[in-house]
Amino acid sequence: SNIPAKTQLAVIGAGPGGYAAAFRAAALGLQVTLIDPEVNPGGVCLHRGCIPSKALLHVAKLVNEAEESAQIGVRFNSPDIDLDRVRQWKNEVVEKLTSGLGGKVEKNKVTYVRGTARFKDGQTLQVTPSDGEQGELAFEQAIIATGSRPTMLPGVQTGERIFDSTGALELARVPKSLLVVGGGYIGLELGSVYAALGSEVSVVEMTSGLLPGCDRDLVSQLKRRLDKKFSEIMLSTKVVELKEQKNTVAVTLEDKKGERSNRKFDQVLIAIGRRPNTENLGLENTSVKINEQGFVVVDGQQRTAEKQIFAIGDIAGEPMLAHKAYGEAAVAAEVAAGKKAVFEPRAIPAVVFTDPEIAWCGLTETAAREQKINIKTAKLPWRGNGRTLTLGREDGMTKLIVDAENDRLLGVAVAGPGAGELIAEGVLALELAAVGEDLAKAIHPHPTLSETLFDAAQLLD
Ligand code: FAD
Repeated sequence: SNIPAKTQLAVIGAGPGGYAAAFRAAALGLQVTLIDPEVNPGGVCLHRGCIPSKALLHVAKLVNEAEESAQIGVRFNSPDIDLDRVRQWKNEVVEKLTSGLGGKVEKNKVTYVRGTARFKDGQTLQVTPSDGEQGELAFEQAIIATGSRPTMLPGVQTGERIFDSTGALELARVPKSLLVVGGGYIGLELGSVYAALGSEVSVVEMTSGLLPGCDRDLVSQLKRRLDKKFSEIMLSTKVVELKEQKNTVAVTLEDKKGERSNRKFDQVLIAIGRRPNTENLGLENTSVKINEQGFVVVDGQQRTAEKQIFAIGDIAGEPMLAHKAYGEAAVAAEVAAGKKAVFEPRAIPAVVFTDPEIAWCGLTETAAREQKINIKTAKLPWRGNGRTLTLGREDGMTKLIVDAENDRLLGVAVAGPGAGELIAEGVLALELAAVGEDLAKAIHPHPTLSETLFDAAQLLD
């Protein structure tokens, strides 16, 4: 193994947070050691998160479009899905990206140690390489970027028929029936993939609606379509028992009236959330603090309570998203290199890559009303938008939320095909402290979905 005796900056975990921090710090002249058990950097996002899930959602999109195009006069035979090739293609996408990052490690002169690390004290890591003897690495500064992992239902273990998002992305087979436990974005995205591949998908969600935290008028755009694609969506319902049997998974569900029902599914996907990887890190040997939700406590410069140790990404709090990790990584790396930097974005976008996609940034309408902020909203349904109709669609909505007193944009939300791309304009508008009139005056290309932002802005005065 190649464990150096000492390093200026040790980065633990090579996900979007860790690799971005390592490359930035190296570019700023620090001598960096990056530690991760995988052969190449990438973390959850590239190996078993964002990237493989979006590759499979692309497959789902092709299948759905082939089916729906019959309505506009183009009929295809029902899709012949070569699951082995789909899986292989998804793995190729992951491999291209992660090996590309592997190349960047060398180019940036970052020392990459394949293995795991834990703190012996505030200046020393114990490193267990994937091959060879455990060693010690003395560091001047360290960045913790160990990410998160799926939360399991208590008493339930993954197996052949019960899996988490990692297992679902492996795509071993297409079950006849699939129960998705959890109506958050991961459950709905993966449920959409399996539904397109031919599974009968049911979703069970404990709260009264899908995608908690997202405005209801956006969710209803999605729900209408999911009601057609999924066999059922059970809200205000919880799983009380789940047992893997010989050829099936037996599930006991309880609705809000307390009524129980016993059901059987071919496979079950548990997607009830993620928890930060703070265990087995030896944090007790440092003064790094953890809050009630289990996240490492950091300040605006991403410093933990032990000031030479930083934390970034999923381990440092919500939202647990790759682009938040990138933002925090840049700050931690710059501060570690002696520059002035602080993490204070005006907006961190959230995107649900279902069909339609849902994306929002800044303040949600729900949060604004709860906080009694004096807002004005503009809501533009997409059915009057030319581009929407030329795509054979009628659904979709764009919403702007502005401060009623000064027209300052506070939030932007989009539901519809391509919402994840469109929201970038909202993020830039919020970062530049735009007012509604800025959007209303900026000439948008025609005919595009981006015109819905422009048209919504006209509704504000
Ligand atoms: P991670 O990516 O979790 O990486 C942490 C790394 O640290 C891992 O490689 C791990 O092996 C390593 N590690 C852990 N402990 C140690 C140790 N002791 N020593 C050394 N290494 C260690 N986010 C988005 O923004 N967009 C999406 O579309 C999206 N889709 C997702 C889909 C799915 C199915 C899932 C599960 C997640 C998705 N996410 C998405 C979330 C995204 O993956 C995470 O927010 C992101 O990966 C967090 O990056 P990170 O750097 O904090 O940690």
